[in-house]
Amino acid sequence: MATVVDREKVLSDVFTESTHSIERRSKKQTQQVRFQLRSFYLMGTRVDNIDSDLALRIVRHYAVDHGADRARKIFFTNVHSICSAQQNEILKQCINLGDLVLPDGSGLRIGGKMTGNPIIENLNGTDFTPKVLRMAEDEGLSLFFFGAEEPVVQQCCNRIRNAYPKLRIAGYRNGYFQESEDKNIVEQINAARPDILLVALGTPKQEIWLTRYSHDLNVNVAMAVGGLFDFLSMTKKRAPLWMRRLGIEWLFRFLHEPKAKWKRIIIEIPMYFSMLFAKKYVPASFQRTLRKAIFS
Ligand code: UDP
Repeated sequence: MATVVDREKVLSDVFTESTHSIERRSKKQTQQVRFQLRSFYLMGTRVDNIDSDLALRIVRHYAVDHGADRARKIFFTNVHSICSAQQNEILKQCINLGDLVLPDGSGLRIGGKMTGNPIIENLNGTDFTPKVLRMAEDEGLSLFFFGAEEPVVQQCCNRIRNAYPKLRIAGYRNGYFQESEDKNIVEQINAARPDILLVALGTPKQEIWLTRYSHDLNVNVAMAVGGLFDFLSMTKKRAPLWMRRLGIEWLFRFLHEPKAKWKRIIIEIPMYFSMLFAKKYVPASFQRTLRKAIFS
């Protein structure tokens, strides 16, 4: 298995196209499976610009592949993660080293358009993961749910059992823990032997935790899904369809959780769009300095 990501490009701010090559091993033969990803970097953060069909085929390929020596990591990148990555180089590196980094939200759509990389499809975790659940049910794959408050993750699993009766739930665990418990959590997940792990700890915790433990986790694929369990458990309401269609789900979340989300609206959205305008109109040589000034 090899995912070709040029580290020079990861660190630079150029927009590029890369090919990710994924090797599938079976007992009888080694077969090379290639997926063409049109990837680009938005403020140094990778975005794999593909549609949901291809994304699902790649996740399925990872999920059924038992030849890998680590968990493959699927991330979703959005305005919040891009802005957080400007101030957190570790987060940026973790995202960029993901096996798949999918574009989430209208901010990415606008960013892609402004930088000459029109986004093929908005692939947020809340809409994409149910497709993964359906695929897992069809393929007989098992899942472990890690994250959110205990009653939330419990309720999330109950609702999933009803919605996907044949889906194998290997186990679940809440997302509130001390760093000293990390190893126990990895052991708990490994003991349950899931094929797919969903990690819902929020950004940047989930991306960093998954990257740190991807070699210790005995799962085929792990997805960082943010607030998904809150929605699947119906603990939090999702924005109505018309708001999602207009690309203003962020406004709904802000109105429902102003204390938790104000920073994303008041600070991150203006920062993000300032950087996008700078990217278009400011000479390349000044952009790194400008970015540092805006995000420091
Ligand atoms: N969470 C968690 N452990 C933590 C912090 C957060 O399990 O230490 C959970 C939280 O309960 C929620 C999710 O992570 O279910 C974060 O949701 P949010 O919508 O903020 O995700 P983001 O938009 O940051 O990806």
